[in-house]
Amino acid sequence: MNISQALTYGRNTLVESESPEIDAQVLLCHILSCQTAYLHSWSEKQLNQQQQDAFKQLIEQRQQGHPVSHLTGQQGFWTFDLNVTADTLIPRPDTELLVELALTKLKSNMKAADLGTGSGAIALSLAYERPTAQIVAMDQSWSALNVAKENAVHHQLENISFWQGQWLESIADCALDLVVSNPPYIRTDDPHLLQGDVRFEPLSALVSGDDGLDDLRIIVRQAQRCLKLSGWLLVEHGHDQAQQVQKLFQQAEFTHISSHQDFGENNRVVMGQKTDER
Ligand code: GLN
Repeated sequence: MNISQALTYGRNTLVESESPEIDAQVLLCHILSCQTAYLHSWSEKQLNQQQQDAFKQLIEQRQQGHPVSHLTGQQGFWTFDLNVTADTLIPRPDTELLVELALTKLKSNMKAADLGTGSGAIALSLAYERPTAQIVAMDQSWSALNVAKENAVHHQLENISFWQGQWLESIADCALDLVVSNPPYIRTDDPHLLQGDVRFEPLSALVSGDDGLDDLRIIVRQAQRCLKLSGWLLVEHGHDQAQQVQKLFQQAEFTHISSHQDFGENNRVVMGQKTDER
């Protein structure tokens, strides 16, 4: 089997995938430790037996539904290739919006917390872009924190510390300049949970009660307490939750509240400022 034949095999086998061509390319690049361009330049090159077996095995696992990122152990986010495991949410491109907006508020020497950091995607991006800011990456899951830590070490980011905890429970009042979070926000009965990659991601990173807002309610309330005066809270939410999340911000007396759309033009982020001395 040569590279071109392997890709055809992969494409034709992955009938369940929405992106059979790309999946086959990414998995073959993983086996051959190469970039996509190599596959096109060397399409006649033969795979050895070991490479063929390994590729077929990955294609089979993909066909069973396993996310490509779990099979390669990697997902691109911001400027990084991040390690991801079954213990972490697979970072989505939409979450880069949250990073972009957070960077408009995060100045050098500020202290920011990323709640539910997972693979560390948001925390690492902020730490990389603001090397003199102090970033706290928090998660309730030790396994997720270990993945985030590994990613920070691999990308040589030293301005991140790691905390295990339930949202901001253990954080002092008025301790942070910025709080950012991509928390779980899917409704318990959402039928999407039974389809595609999410079936293999940790439910604790996805699901948050009957209306998907259980964790956001806690985060918004706690952030009002933990932020310094003039500090900002930014959260990701579901495509149909903007109004409800804005309301949570209002109830917690945040001001300058605004909604922002992701690349698919869905409302995806709400941000607001603490301007009320408590
Ligand atoms: N945006 C993800 C999805 O809909 C969910 C991520 C999350 O719950 N934070 O699959």
